[in-house]
Amino acid sequence: MKNKKYCIANWKMNFNNNNSINFINKFNEFDIDESNVTIIVCPSFTSLSDMNKLNKNNNFKLGSQNVSIYEKGSYTGQISIDMINDFNCKYSIIGHSERRKYCNEDNNIISQKFDMLHKSNIIPIVCIGETLSQRNDNSAFKVIEEQLTTLLKNKNINISKEIIIAYEPVWAIGTGLSADIDTIRIMHLHIKNSIEKIIPNNCNIHMLYGGSVNENNAADIIKVDYVDGFLIGSSSLEPEKFYKIYKTLKEN
Ligand code: PEP
Repeated sequence: MKNKKYCIANWKMNFNNNNSINFINKFNEFDIDESNVTIIVCPSFTSLSDMNKLNKNNNFKLGSQNVSIYEKGSYTGQISIDMINDFNCKYSIIGHSERRKYCNEDNNIISQKFDMLHKSNIIPIVCIGETLSQRNDNSAFKVIEEQLTTLLKNKNINISKEIIIAYEPVWAIGTGLSADIDTIRIMHLHIKNSIEKIIPNNCNIHMLYGGSVNENNAADIIKVDYVDGFLIGSSSLEPEKFYKIYKTLKEN
């Protein structure tokens, strides 16, 4: 059994504040013990304050779904590291494929956000993964390597600080069709080896899988080598489903 696992909910733009409160009130009724599974809930920025207040039993940690590349100043509409810190936010998702696709975020922008987070007290959850056309033209390995190289190479990485890398094949996100076990195994091994080449002996980099994880496939996927947990979209929107995935992580 793996000793440190993550169960991360990415609610995207699905919940208003009331929906978020209802979810957490229900979720707080479940029996949760975080000893070997860290639960991280990433609501909209607008719900961070109430989520923080509702987390009286410390059942989960809070994460943001994004963070500004800027530190402070005249950047209308941006939300900084300092601002999410106000709500006890310990994690931040960066590089999600939806932000790469709809907000034109590329490896360089993601790398700059990573640097800022790595310097701060907030742990980055960096999403990487290939698109379907990249998979079909056999460039998945190269794409992943490029994403990791821009992120980590020639950087002042503090190896005592936690970093989370989520492998999310774009073609498996929100489709209901997760990558098959062999693909997840091959890609996680490739990610592990690529990171090892850039930062030998790293021991605080954790690798997650994301892409149509649900309560039925979670047990098989968590058994794959170098999968330390999940980043979950659709199945994190129902407290019961999310809890079942958490229980699966606990038991495997
Ligand atoms: C995601 O968007 O990060 C994700 C993994 O979504 P889903 O679980 O719905 O595929």
